[in-house]
Amino acid sequence: MWSSSTQTTKSALARCHGMPAAVVTGSSRGIGKAIALRFADDGYDVAVNYRSSADAADAVVDEIRDRGQAAVAVGADVSNADAAARLVDAAADAFGGVDHVVNNAGVDQHVVTEDLEPSDFDRIMDVNVNSAFAVTKAALPFLHASTADPSVTNVSSILAHTGAAIECHYAASKGALLSLTRSHARDFAPGIRVNAVAPGHVETDMTGDRSPAEKREELAAIPVDRYGRPDEIADAVAYLRDATFVTGETLNVNGGELMC
Ligand code: NAP
Repeated sequence: MWSSSTQTTKSALARCHGMPAAVVTGSSRGIGKAIALRFADDGYDVAVNYRSSADAADAVVDEIRDRGQAAVAVGADVSNADAAARLVDAAADAFGGVDHVVNNAGVDQHVVTEDLEPSDFDRIMDVNVNSAFAVTKAALPFLHASTADPSVTNVSSILAHTGAAIECHYAASKGALLSLTRSHARDFAPGIRVNAVAPGHVETDMTGDRSPAEKREELAAIPVDRYGRPDEIADAVAYLRDATFVTGETLNVNGGELMC
């Protein structure tokens, strides 16, 4: 799936200015958007991926261009391996290569195991884990060819460590993402570094459904007494992107929640 603006932008961009380029999955909103903008601030061209929010993705592209970087919006459901490959190809076509991948796209679902359907379990795994495998695999030839210290960053969750009573499939998917991170770090060394960020609670649409009582309960477990901001997660991703001696690591960013 392509947005019409993507088609136009793609042919117009045929990369010539030699900037490093990144693919950020799920970057129309929330944490992914903050990561995409941070990469633009740091001099990267960015492929902004979305599943259904074409207008929001186009707005992120505009913000990136306002920062002086090139960008394309690419509609692709990254839980589908063919679509994931099309996303990577679109980025490579637009920018002449891919130097960094951020596997950020993710969905959650609150349901107790007794009511959880196997198809829901599969869907969460497809979006949160299989997508990271598919996008990373598709990007490998470009990452291997990169001379810009290529790396991959996977966005996991604090729930990978703690588990979660009403979203076991989400927690399991985020745990699998950490194993995938360490496995790919070994697979692709020494050429490509692979790390993960595991955020705690962050103010995005994903956490926007909390009742005041639920939010109070969650805040009681966070020593800094607030949710994180998307840009604070983007800071961690940028650190891992630039940390030339770090691979196979998970950076926990949670306001102290994990130590409690
Ligand atoms: P969000 O605000 O709900 O945004 C999700 C993003 O992912 C959107 O851009 C969405 O695209 C995209 N997306 C979802 N499914 C997709 C698919 N199949 N293919 C392509 N794009 C897809 O979520 P968020 O809070 O920013 O979360 C970002 C990541 O951080 C997720 O992996 C999440 O699990 C993780 N995380 C979040 C928190 C938190 O508290 N928010 C905590 C820990 C970890 P559309 O706009 O087109 O739907």
